[in-house]
Amino acid sequence: MTREEMLHRLKKTLTPQRYAHTLGVEETAVRMARALGVDEEKASVAALLHDCAKCCSLQEMHAYIQNDSIAQTVDMSMRASGALMHGPAGAARARKEYGVEDPEVLHAIRYHTTGCAEMSKLDKIIYLADMVEPGRRSFPGLAQLRALCETDLDAAMRMALQSSAEHVKENRQALHPDTQKALQALTRQEGPNG
Ligand code: FE
Ligand code: FE
Repeated sequence: MTREEMLHRLKKTLTPQRYAHTLGVEETAVRMARALGVDEEKASVAALLHDCAKCCSLQEMHAYIQNDSIAQTVDMSMRASGALMHGPAGAARARKEYGVEDPEVLHAIRYHTTGCAEMSKLDKIIYLADMVEPGRRSFPGLAQLRALCETDLDAAMRMALQSSAEHVKENRQALHPDTQKALQALTRQEGPNG
């Protein structure tokens, strides 16, 4: 499917705000990909489709993963939350309705809501672009996070994940195990002076 065809379909299935957010994530992700030597085409497709299931009901999200191998990786706490579920549901929908077969692109969509233990550069780009795209409502540290996205991908990821973890804590929810693993992986990576 061409980019134009994807845009056409997204426009029909997303709210105008979500569609605008999607374009902002694409712009940011492609720019980051170029700077980091990551495939810009993959960044574009993953960004365009990262929220393709966001405007579905939780029931519809379940239906998307039902006959998909992705279902095996989705635990109970994720199934109960639309905020988390639209990642795996989006990956399943991207495969089913947008013809995406690239495992790297599907992985980035799948894990954009939680992060995971082993994140590729593309995964990190999508996770971060989602948080810092130009239309994003401001939050404490956004300017700093944007700057880190330009200079240090892993430092930006640590900051982004920590900020998500705090947000989850404020809402008295449990941090998803995949987010804990993502944080641990990045903390291990951090050198003794980092
Ligand atoms: Fe999302
Ligand atoms: Fe998003």
